[in-house]
Amino acid sequence: MTVRVQQTQALDTDVALVRYAHGKRLEGLHELGIFTIRDLLEHYPFRYDDFSRVVKIVDLPLGEKNAALGTIHEINSRRTLKGGYLYEIAVTDGTGLLKAIWFNQKWLAETLTKGKTILLLGKVEHQGGYPRMSSPLYTLVSNEHRGATAAEQTAERGNEQAGEQTAKQANNQDSQISGVDYGPSPVGISPVYRANSKVSSNWIKRLILESRELAQEPLDPLPPKLRIKRRLMSRQIAWQCIHSPSSQEELTLSHYRLAYEQVFFAQLRFAVNELREQQGLVSFTHSTQGKKIKELTQLLPFTLTASQQRAVDELFADMSTPKRMNRLLLGDVGSGKTVVALHALVAAQQNGWQAVMMAPTEILAQQYANSLGPLLDALEISWVLLTSSLTAKEKQEAYAGIASGRLAVAFGTHALIEPEVQFKKLSLIVVDEQHRFGVEHRNKLIAKSPAADFLSMTATPIPRSLALVLYGNVQVSYLENRPGKATTHTVFLNSSVVYKAYEGIRAALSRGEQAYIVCPFISAPPVSADDEESYLDDLDDFFDEPAIAAAESELEHLRRQVFPERHIELLTSRVKSEEKQKIMAAFKAGDIDVLVSTTVIEVGIDVPNATVMVILDANRFGLAQLHQLRGRVGRGTQDAQVFLVANRPSESARKRLGTLERYNDGLILAEADLLERHEGDIGGTRQHGSSALSLINVIRDSALIEAAHQDVTRLLEGDPGLALPEHQHLRAEILLVTDDPKN
Ligand code: ADP
Ligand code: MG
Repeated sequence: MTVRVQQTQALDTDVALVRYAHGKRLEGLHELGIFTIRDLLEHYPFRYDDFSRVVKIVDLPLGEKNAALGTIHEINSRRTLKGGYLYEIAVTDGTGLLKAIWFNQKWLAETLTKGKTILLLGKVEHQGGYPRMSSPLYTLVSNEHRGATAAEQTAERGNEQAGEQTAKQANNQDSQISGVDYGPSPVGISPVYRANSKVSSNWIKRLILESRELAQEPLDPLPPKLRIKRRLMSRQIAWQCIHSPSSQEELTLSHYRLAYEQVFFAQLRFAVNELREQQGLVSFTHSTQGKKIKELTQLLPFTLTASQQRAVDELFADMSTPKRMNRLLLGDVGSGKTVVALHALVAAQQNGWQAVMMAPTEILAQQYANSLGPLLDALEISWVLLTSSLTAKEKQEAYAGIASGRLAVAFGTHALIEPEVQFKKLSLIVVDEQHRFGVEHRNKLIAKSPAADFLSMTATPIPRSLALVLYGNVQVSYLENRPGKATTHTVFLNSSVVYKAYEGIRAALSRGEQAYIVCPFISAPPVSADDEESYLDDLDDFFDEPAIAAAESELEHLRRQVFPERHIELLTSRVKSEEKQKIMAAFKAGDIDVLVSTTVIEVGIDVPNATVMVILDANRFGLAQLHQLRGRVGRGTQDAQVFLVANRPSESARKRLGTLERYNDGLILAEADLLERHEGDIGGTRQHGSSALSLINVIRDSALIEAAHQDVTRLLEGDPGLALPEHQHLRAEILLVTDDPKN
């Protein structure tokens, strides 16, 4: 602790000591989570405006964002029809004429005057015979350029008032601008920061420059060996470059160094915590060669696919070491994870120990009992299903059997984490659909036997890089292909031709197959005042907006008008648990033709005879969720069809649905989904501190993540306690973060 404070004293300095950081501005910084110099330096730009490559006006490509430099040649300001104020300038650079317009920014008349040299950054459109930028970012360039002139500062203010953020780069004064020159621009690459109403992006930029003196921190926590191996610039220089890059290359290199550092320390923290938790714990060393494993192979009505077999081998390899297993089984819906887990359950029992398998829903837990129970019975392995719907007496019996060790396997829901559930010797914990549980639930289950081997499974296949970032040192097994040959064909349909989807259902029903119809709501949502207003804003939409698909009304519609001769039932969260089980059983038995539901069917329903799914208002669901839903069909041998129905979806929704039409592989979709989201805004990573991984995009940076993970693993193999002198700084860095009250 004392070491840490000495070593990072400069970075721990209160941000209030930076010049100009006081009053409202300081409040603004605090609201952004910036309390120390380190916080300030790690408040990385979320975007850069690149003024560094200036393009000749004659060469400006349409539709692209570019910088242009020229002299203001003509000015034209007027009132618009709606009473607004339009300010237009014409700029020339000797090669052509470029127009730029702004709305409702009267102060421009004072700053953007004839004869001045201006640097513009914006998207170029063609308008009235000229290239034109609409509300571009701009900076006035003084011909003598002697630092920031009054005009420039006004210009900056103007931009800020317009809600835009640009500024002059203080350290880039020496580029030669004389009239028109196509060399490096005087503004360069301008960082844009997450800001608020109390402290603007420009102010943050200035404060970072001001903090330089205070932040003299020559120490680089990364060992020199690693820096050489990964070609990483020093942290001090990287901080300088990321906040004021003078070239794209500097930006790339500094970004790489700092992104590496973020992953490296996240991985190191995970790994060190794990080592600490496991200290003194001896995990279970399972024998995986026994008789019942062989019997299981014979009992199964199918042979394992190659990737299932590989996953089983990987599991067994982990389970047979004294080190605690922490493995994630990733597999698309229907890829057959359950039977892989079954092998581990059997192995636990064979060694005389117990295993538990937890599911997020009762339906799913029930399904384990239905599908795995008979196999366990045949192997003479005692098991129990523990859910909240057991009677008090049944529960007591289950608790007793678990405590005495008479019951070897417990399936169940959250009911398993009740304090009454105490195992005699629990050697294996399996958590299915792991992302649906909160961390605390998971941890409560683990607390029942901290040394037990741990297997989590998820039907939302996430790239390994994300798994690493989310869960740290987890080993990943991936089920690549689905057993069986059925393929699922997905098409988008506009609501106006929804009858095509019904025809698809009709055809399936006549072949003796079954179908699902999924709606976003149980009953029509009430129209809120807000909605009403926005409808009135846009009368077109008001008249075209269709009734929102709701399960209850869809059911009526289908029963009366579409399939009056068929048996259709409703399954939503409003249906009582008992009734739900009945409906599920009847659907499984083929007594129900069409099941109308909400997303309650998302997980765990397994009816191979259901071959068509219609998802209404599909644009209301996310990509991952739609993929999960469609995994409910195509589970048998017959090919399946999925209809994604939406009423004139927005461009982005249409794109999402198009991705689903094109790709069936969950992993590809997961990557598409992550790329679509904002960098750093990756579900789940937020729990690891506000900005700890702000520079990371798990898809783009997957190689870097692997590299950092590998480096941490090697480093700890050689020096598990970080005791070597060259690792002292690493120790300090980790202490710093784990001791931080904000985390
Ligand atoms: P998920 O990965 O979604 O949990 P399940 O474990 O529920 O998938 O398996 C989906 C279906 O595939 C089940 O009906 C299961 O019995 C069947 N299945 C699993 N493995 C195989 C296999 N190797 N060959 C044929 N069918 C299999
Ligand atoms: Mg499953």
